[in-house]
Order: sequence, then C-alpha cells, then structure tokens
Amino acid sequence: MILNQENQEKCRKLLDRYGYRPQLMMLIEECSELIKAVCKMFRNGTCASAPSENFLEEMADVAVMFEQACMMFNITAAEINKRAKEKLDKKVSG
Ligand SMILES: [Mg+2]
Repeated sequence: MILNQENQEKCRKLLDRYGYRPQLMMLIEECSELIKAVCKMFRNGTCASAPSENFLEEMADVAVMFEQACMMFNITAAEINKRAKEKLDKKVSG
C-alpha cells in the first residue's frame, strides 16, 4: 500500500512465516512504539521541527505491520481510501 513492490513481497514472506496472530501482536507493539516516539518528540520539544530518527524508524515499523494487516484481510488501497475520504470529508467540512 505505502510500501514498494519489493518491500511488499518481503511483508508477504513474513506473514507466511509467522502467521496472522503473531503479526497482529506485532502491529500492536509497533503502534505502541510509534506512540512512544511521538511522546518523546513532544517531551523534547522537537515535534514542530524535523522528525526524530526514532519517529522515522517507528513510522517504518508501523508501515510494515500495516501492510501485513492489509494482506491478512485482503484490504485494498481503494477500501482504505474510501473510508479515509469519508472521515476526511466530515473533518474538513466540520
Ligand atoms: Mg518498532
């Protein structure tokens, strides 16, 4: 989805190797690490400037797990964009 073809193929391999449940647990873990990275940028007062290295790392980790979650449930970019559009339309017009 956000990852290129080569990285998507590696995601597929990891999903096949470890299975759904462990990878969903990893999604939880990586989301929590991203939350922590954002908290640290706030604590350090750096969120208005450049993203921290840690933040970029955790964004990539979440992208990898997001990709695998999409593969698990055959969620397409079109499906995500449809829902994103609905949410964004409400927020933009609200
Ligand atoms: Mg991580």
